[in-house]
Amino acid sequence: MSAYSELIQYIDTISIINTHCHKLPQKQGFPASIKDLIEHSYLGWCHKEWDGTKEKATNFIRSLRHNSYFFWIEKSLQTIFNTQKRFDEENYPWFDEKIKELSQKVSSDNGFLRNVCHYDKIILDGYWNPGTDLGDPDLFTPTFRINQFLFGYQIDTVDDNGNNPFLNYNWPKDLDFKGYLGKIEEKIVEKKEAGCVALKSSLPYDRSICFKERTYEEAEKGYQNPNAKVEDIIAFQDYIYFHICKIAAKYNIPFQNHTGLGNLEGSNAMLLKEVISKNPDTQFILFHGSFPWTDDALALIHNFPNIYADICWLPSISTSTAVYFIKQLLETGKADAITWGCDSWTIIESFGAYLAGRHAVAKALSDLIEDDFLTVQEGKELSEKIFRENAKMLYHI
Ligand SMILES: [Zn+2]
Repeated sequence: MSAYSELIQYIDTISIINTHCHKLPQKQGFPASIKDLIEHSYLGWCHKEWDGTKEKATNFIRSLRHNSYFFWIEKSLQTIFNTQKRFDEENYPWFDEKIKELSQKVSSDNGFLRNVCHYDKIILDGYWNPGTDLGDPDLFTPTFRINQFLFGYQIDTVDDNGNNPFLNYNWPKDLDFKGYLGKIEEKIVEKKEAGCVALKSSLPYDRSICFKERTYEEAEKGYQNPNAKVEDIIAFQDYIYFHICKIAAKYNIPFQNHTGLGNLEGSNAMLLKEVISKNPDTQFILFHGSFPWTDDALALIHNFPNIYADICWLPSISTSTAVYFIKQLLETGKADAITWGCDSWTIIESFGAYLAGRHAVAKALSDLIEDDFLTVQEGKELSEKIFRENAKMLYHI
């Protein structure tokens, strides 16, 4: 048996800790048709419409057949329905029927995640209700999304997901700046006590992640000030991000950070260099390899001890980039700092993300085995670290 096949088989036996997921509440997280699946997956981001007509379906499939998102959704469907049929112009109605049947048959989508995807724990980023565990704390361990705290500079300004702490938590409207900082700390501690194992920033969907160190006075000028200039608000947000890094260090809570893509301008992980170097006690987890700036992520990971690389989403965005990135991560010496998450909303996409992650890891490791960097046994141990042990250590779960 090839090293690749041996690793694939081995990874299937691991009880996975999935470090990043957006699984929607029960049943919504279970697509009832292809249209539903596409609308709640990254295929919905590919600028092609699926309205159920033959014409649109043909156009969709011909345009995206080679796309990584498409490929892994197809693999997920083929594996779930135990078929070699391709997801093409001819067969898509068959898959549509099968998805409908399955959505009626399976009573628990969480059961699917446990049994088919073999997830032991899932760190859930339920941004629609930051810190939610979907009522299943045994499976879902939440992360707490902090974007909203950078938007409390007015009581009604909201982040990309429509969140503002004054609106969400009923904070007194006359809270002064010092009080606001205290409330952030209080809320984070409360969420930690309620079971959140990490903080999460998806700020590249809101603004640049070039956070500069600011003084208290500079930041205060941007807070609840009707005459605040744009620079004052940026100073306020920069200060709040640093404040959150300090809270993360004080309470030993790992800080997950979306890097790459997002708004593109201002999402490159390298922009975090100042804040990373000035907060050596904060554990920063860089998501998505900062795609497409994976070299920049590698440079940071190489130089700083307080950085972890989470490869979530990357194998689904570009599988070949993920394979290359994992090899480079290992070559630059970070075996204990690599984790994996599915970064999906639905169970079918989550399973596809697992197949993509499994392939990327097995391919990267088997290449290294072939080049004599590793033995097969060491490859298995590294797989166990990436899909379970590193996350267990980092998030204390
Ligand atoms: Zn995500």
